Amino acid sequence: MDMEKFDNNKNGDIVLKLADAIIANTGLLSEIDGAVADGDHGINMNKGFSICKERLQGMAFSFSDGLLTLGTILLTEIGGSMGPLYGSLFRGMAKPAKGMEFIDIKLFDAMLSVALEKVESIGNAHVGDKTMMDTLVPAVSAFHEATEQGLSFSVALGRMSSAAKNGMDSTKDMVAKIGRAARLGERSRGVLDAGAVSCWIILSTFSEEIAKRL
Ligand code: ADP
Ligand code: MG
Repeated sequence: MDMEKFDNNKNGDIVLKLADAIIANTGLLSEIDGAVADGDHGINMNKGFSICKERLQGMAFSFSDGLLTLGTILLTEIGGSMGPLYGSLFRGMAKPAKGMEFIDIKLFDAMLSVALEKVESIGNAHVGDKTMMDTLVPAVSAFHEATEQGLSFSVALGRMSSAAKNGMDSTKDMVAKIGRAARLGERSRGVLDAGAVSCWIILSTFSEEIAKRL
């Protein structure tokens, strides 16, 4: 069987697809954030991803360099809690892939695991706190398990995406324990977490765009 992989140098535009997906959901993300917090999540995310799109459009760049640029912009140029969190997520993802010609299931697994480590070390949030981690942690585990089981890259991406969706949905019944929404206590129950939703948008876009290119 052919090992599924994609060309790192030719697929930088996946990062532009991520930007489009976030920009298209700006209103939705702010509305969700507004239900329990300050309603700026869409605006914060839109700002960072728009700057990135402007900077990269029309340029030739690899997938890993695109991720590094995106991460650096988020880390240094946007406010809110999400700048440093998503900034380190994308910079972490870029690291193992830097200078690599192809990205296969093992390398993507390593990229996700570095990304998760970085976000964990900065945010210190856990599953059940009603944050982006409720989407990210199960998604990264599902991809890792699929890798360990010897499944194909495309199947592993599908598993990642479903786990991300379930994780995002699980935040609806949670009480926020971290971030602005935590101030609401019990009243934060009943709505999704904005960061969990943006994280699902990001992971499902990765899944779709990468699967197309394998
Ligand atoms: P702010 O909280 O500064 O208004 P945003 O609205 O952009 O920033 O982001 C809010 C989201 O950040 C929340 O929905 C939650 O998912 C996420 N979040 C907040 N604190 C943390 C943390 N310590 N670790 C992981 N995610 C967090
Ligand atoms: Mg906010």
